[in-house]
Amino acid sequence: MEPTQPAPATSNISVRRGEPLVVVEHVDKHFGDLHVLNDIDTVVNRGEVVVVIGPSGSGKSTLCRAINRLETIDSGTIMIDGEKLPEEGAALAKLRADVGMVFQSFNLFAHKTVLENVTLAPIRVKRRSRKEADAKAMEILDRVGVANQAKKMPAQLSGGQQQRVAIARSLAMNPKLILMDEPTSALDPEMINEVLDVMIGLAKDGMTMIVVTHEMGFARKAADRVLFMADGRIVEEATPAQFFDHPESDRAKDFLSKIL
Ligand code: ADP
Ligand code: MG
Repeated sequence: MEPTQPAPATSNISVRRGEPLVVVEHVDKHFGDLHVLNDIDTVVNRGEVVVVIGPSGSGKSTLCRAINRLETIDSGTIMIDGEKLPEEGAALAKLRADVGMVFQSFNLFAHKTVLENVTLAPIRVKRRSRKEADAKAMEILDRVGVANQAKKMPAQLSGGQQQRVAIARSLAMNPKLILMDEPTSALDPEMINEVLDVMIGLAKDGMTMIVVTHEMGFARKAADRVLFMADGRIVEEATPAQFFDHPESDRAKDFLSKIL
């Protein structure tokens, strides 16, 4: 799958690949008195890779979870591929199939093999035959470099391997979009790159991705855009080069001075 047109090296945010896939408009959410998403507006186009960064508690995970409707919102709209997020039932199951999610903590099914982890949803949700699901799963496991682990249980794998299986599991559903919430934060340092390399590969293949991460190398290499969040708001939206080299807000300058 190729993006419809390559992003120019010096692209600014008005130059975007593809059609809008995720449209977030005036989204608000509170947890009690806490305004955790405050008038969030953004568009992610097909084939785009958007990195979300910001201090702890700024609402990054809540935004991801809202896009997958693991969290409800108080007001505003979120559209995926032209459709408003469904509230429940079959339409919600379809959305979950279309929007992959990779968590910091892998969340693999501990009592199923690697292969079963990847084939479960295609068999149950997409009604694939086991044979067909197994063949596709092996292809995807190969793509993320863990095909030789297919028969093992998750606990027998390293963290980096488990996270690559989690990515394979979401890819097996042919998602329109993959959300990743700090996918490398729980990994030992020596395993971070093997996961980032898989993510960079997906980005190059044109997968639409929203990735919460503080991995600046990944953002610079793979992201079309960086969203910087603080206190529930999108404070800056820029290309990685613009953002990292010339952050505009004091919040962003302060944040970058702490992580770089
Ligand atoms: P981030 O991912 O940027 O660290 P989160 O989206 O996880 O931020 O959280 C944003 C804020 O919302 C934090 O202050 C957090 O404590 C709060 N929060 C998150 N989930 C809940 C919840 N289920 N109930 C109450 N407060 C929550
Ligand atoms: Mg978070």
